[in-house]
Amino acid sequence: MAKKQFKAESKRLLDLMINSIYTHKEIFLREIISNASDALDKLAYLSLTDDKVGLKRKDFQIKIIPDKENRTLTVSDNGIGMTKEELESNLGTIAKSGSRQFKEDLAEGEEKAASKVDIIGQFGVGFYSAFMVSDQVTVMSRAYGSDEAWCWQSSGADGYTITPCEKETVGTDIIMKLKEDTEEENYTHYLEPHRLEELVKKYSDYIRYPIRMELEDYREKPKPEDAGEDYKPEWEMVKEWQTVNSMVPIWQRQKSKVKAEDYNNFYKEKFLDWQDPLAVIHTSAEGAVQYKALLYIPAKAPYDFYTRDFQKGLQLYSSGVLIMDKCADLLPDHFRFVRGVVDSPDFSLNISREVLQHTSQLRIIATNLEKKIKAELLKMLESDREKYRKFWKEFGMQLKYGVVNDYGRHKELLQDLLLFHSSNEGEDTTLKEYQDRMKDDQPYVYYAQGEHLEQVARLPQAERILDKGYEILYFTDEVDEFIVQTLGELGGKQFKSVSDEDALPQTEEEKARSEQQAEENKPVLDFVKETLGDKIVDARISKILKSGTVCMTTDGPVSLEMEKYFNRIEQNGEQIQSRRVLELNADAPAFAALKGALDSGDKELAAKYVKVLYGQALLIANLPLEDPAEYAELVCSLMK
Ligand code: ADP
Repeated sequence: MAKKQFKAESKRLLDLMINSIYTHKEIFLREIISNASDALDKLAYLSLTDDKVGLKRKDFQIKIIPDKENRTLTVSDNGIGMTKEELESNLGTIAKSGSRQFKEDLAEGEEKAASKVDIIGQFGVGFYSAFMVSDQVTVMSRAYGSDEAWCWQSSGADGYTITPCEKETVGTDIIMKLKEDTEEENYTHYLEPHRLEELVKKYSDYIRYPIRMELEDYREKPKPEDAGEDYKPEWEMVKEWQTVNSMVPIWQRQKSKVKAEDYNNFYKEKFLDWQDPLAVIHTSAEGAVQYKALLYIPAKAPYDFYTRDFQKGLQLYSSGVLIMDKCADLLPDHFRFVRGVVDSPDFSLNISREVLQHTSQLRIIATNLEKKIKAELLKMLESDREKYRKFWKEFGMQLKYGVVNDYGRHKELLQDLLLFHSSNEGEDTTLKEYQDRMKDDQPYVYYAQGEHLEQVARLPQAERILDKGYEILYFTDEVDEFIVQTLGELGGKQFKSVSDEDALPQTEEEKARSEQQAEENKPVLDFVKETLGDKIVDARISKILKSGTVCMTTDGPVSLEMEKYFNRIEQNGEQIQSRRVLELNADAPAFAALKGALDSGDKELAAKYVKVLYGQALLIANLPLEDPAEYAELVCSLMK
């Protein structure tokens, strides 16, 4: 019979599995059991509304059958089964979400993918992992509602066959023909009942269906009725089907009985991550609304986290039965990185999604969980800054947007969780820490915006403010300025950009001096404006510069950084312009040179000076020069 070919990526994944040197081959069993459990979930769910299924919750099970004579290991379930088409599409292509990443790596080259097999092994490659330990895999399956059964068989990457077969009951048998032992690897292990039992306990203990095996046990023989005084109990070896997993989901167990390692293992298996989570929240409520929840804060953002593809949500169970895989309403957007499980007997099993959305229980649970998540993050921030920084690196942006989104509705909740860099020893700071350090005479909460920290820290506008001993928050993300607009104030003081003309309130004396300078230098400023035309809306003598000569600031609500941002996201060709103002330091030598050139009537030279100063202001603000070559020539011409 002609063999069908695997899809290209599947074939390569399969190749890697077959030739895998991965040391934890034993995880294949967990993968196969997990698939069986999913298949049981599906049929159990159907049985809630469909009497024809004819099985009760207690009838669903997974059996593990080692056969030493034939060197096969069979995992059998009475779940939903697969039709011929499903066998073809499910087992002929890579389905597993975890392996999607693998697929992408493959696109970048075989070597990179191969180097990742270890990692993949840890978060699960699903069905194909059977090939790590088997020469041949046979899948016999009968789908629910169908009276025919099909047999899928493959000995590896050269293809597979699908043929009709006999199977009495609905469900799937995975029959693995184990490889011959080698020096490095003992595959015969996987035929030893006690070894298998160990593996089930290690990886699949929480599976909510009984995983059963026929185990040998020494048992005391029943005492014969005619046993005399001197009867000594006799023992015999019996074989009987036993359930090897405890079946209690981890979130149903008492906190004190669960080890950190168990929480982490569960997380990694369930959510296909290879790193331990940063934090675990195990919580429950009794009373008006009952639930148990097990939530995790991952250590790394999934690769699609900041894309539209990412779907937030928690798994929702009702008394141990999965009713929704990603219940989005349980998580607010700002905490969408949280993974986890909620189990509540308050939901009826066959509740529809539409109805579910509107139940008040769901809202109450979501509100409670939001508080718990915030408390956990706050705890991490206060007790383990290094860890929080890791968290912040991955998900901080999400919290920042959370402050701004929904018209600032969540700002109170989230503002304590924000981190910014600041002039305070270059360390990061929370707003509260900033507030605690704030000087009494400090008129504003200062911030400086720019593209990266080095640039921001050197903005000439910041000098006077730093001289006063006032701390400056460094903003390098586009959203930062929107955050201060949303927050409005901190500890009763307004936020203020260091580029603001009035960043430092002036004394009467200073005011008088500024006015005088502006008056005296009016001809210079007029010349600057005339020379630069519509590149700027104004030129003025700066009140904020100290040793710096020039800087670019803006009038009105749109700052330079906002302008950059809007122009990046701009879609319909409309550019949002800030109203640029060139500020000049009347005390700077370069300003004196400009003034001198004008006084002596050398307008050509004066115009060159103006253009150079303008170019410098752009560079300091990390704005592009309109004509870099011209600027370079200009500077060189002045060096002659
Ligand atoms: P994943 O489980 O992540 O989807 P797998 O490669 O492990 O990826 O499995 C592919 C698909 O094959 C599953 O999604 C499921 O539809 C089907 N499948 C695997 N094992 C079984 C089983 N025992 N019963 C029914 N369907 C199964």
